[in-house]
Amino acid sequence: MTKNIAVIGAGLAGTTIALKMKGKFKVKVFEKSNDVGGRMSTRKEIPFFFDHGAQFFKINTVDFKNFLLELFSQKTIKPWSFRLAYFEGQYLSKIKLIKDSDKFFVGAPNMDSIIKHLSKNCNVILNTKIETITKKNGKWNLYDHNKKSYGFYDWVILSLPAHQSLELITNKISFYSLIEKIKMKGCFTLMVGMNKSLNLNYDAALIKNEDIAWLALNNSKPSRTNKNCLIINSSHEYASNNMNTSKDKVLKHILSTSCNLLNYDLFNSTTIKIHQWKYAEAEFPPKENFFIDHKEKIAVCGDWFINSRVEGAFTSANELSKELLK
Ligand SMILES: Cc1cc2nc3c(=O)[nH]c(=O)nc-3n(C[C@H](O)[C@H](O)[C@H](O)COP(=O)(O)OP(=O)(O)OC[C@H]3O[C@@H](n4cnc5c(N)ncnc54)[C@H](O)[C@@H]3O)c2cc1C
Repeated sequence: MTKNIAVIGAGLAGTTIALKMKGKFKVKVFEKSNDVGGRMSTRKEIPFFFDHGAQFFKINTVDFKNFLLELFSQKTIKPWSFRLAYFEGQYLSKIKLIKDSDKFFVGAPNMDSIIKHLSKNCNVILNTKIETITKKNGKWNLYDHNKKSYGFYDWVILSLPAHQSLELITNKISFYSLIEKIKMKGCFTLMVGMNKSLNLNYDAALIKNEDIAWLALNNSKPSRTNKNCLIINSSHEYASNNMNTSKDKVLKHILSTSCNLLNYDLFNSTTIKIHQWKYAEAEFPPKENFFIDHKEKIAVCGDWFINSRVEGAFTSANELSKELLK
């Protein structure tokens, strides 16, 4: 009989596992949000679209390149050529032109187009946060917060950030104590939608020694509608020190730091939103590409095993799928 697999999380890692296992196993993916994408998603604040997670990605391995071939041919992935500014504090030190040949890739028309496309033939159950998993008669049973059951599975794959994975398992699982050691750093993302163009001589900026670390004009990416959308990411250090500060206070601080850097008043912009990413990047990734407990039939994968990057999410899930298919 075909074995059942439950994948928890529909980011790139979960979607990769679902696609690699499809056909050999019956696969169901559970996603707590109202759409797929995870940290590669796009926030819609009509008329503005913000890629508020991953900004761009690189492709270094043949496996990842092959996995994305169809998306390249359909132009769901495009290179982003842009002017990248380097700031030391408030001081602009240089501007570099990133060309198509530098291969900084983005989803088109939005970052979330990639996982939307990849997952279109996967069985994804949206708006379903799995709160508990228990083992009964050798099978995993999944439940949401209302104790509603989502069926029995031979295997459970957690494709979640380390802390969210830990919430679902107990120390009976062999890799529990290994996940416990992982620390993930957070990040705040400020999204600013404007009616007027900023008229900058750069499209994105890397900023050192400031509470903001990255800034990008989202509409400078290919296939975006011509709206002025600014994305600003806090530094991890600022985020770690302000995880419990009120969102309003964080918003004002990031906004005023950005105004100083840009020498432009953003406070009257049409749309100003803040998003808190609790788990943006692992401090010290584990040595393994994934963890697996063959006896309990449970495994975990995600970007945090490799480099907390888009390609890392794929590689972790891809390596796990090879192990599961053995
Ligand atoms: C602000 C920011 C900027 C970034 N910039 C870049 C960049 O420029 N380049 C780059 O390569 N990488 C970047 N990254 C990293 C990149 O986004 C991630 O490496 C990648 O998207 C992680 O994919 P994943 O599948 O491992 O995890 P995720 O995308 O986090 O997927 C996990 C999924 O699980 C869901 N979930 C969680 N708990 C449950 C539950 N209990 N039940 C059901 N579903 C659940 C979540 O909603 C989510 O969809 C950035 C990340 C952030 C936060």
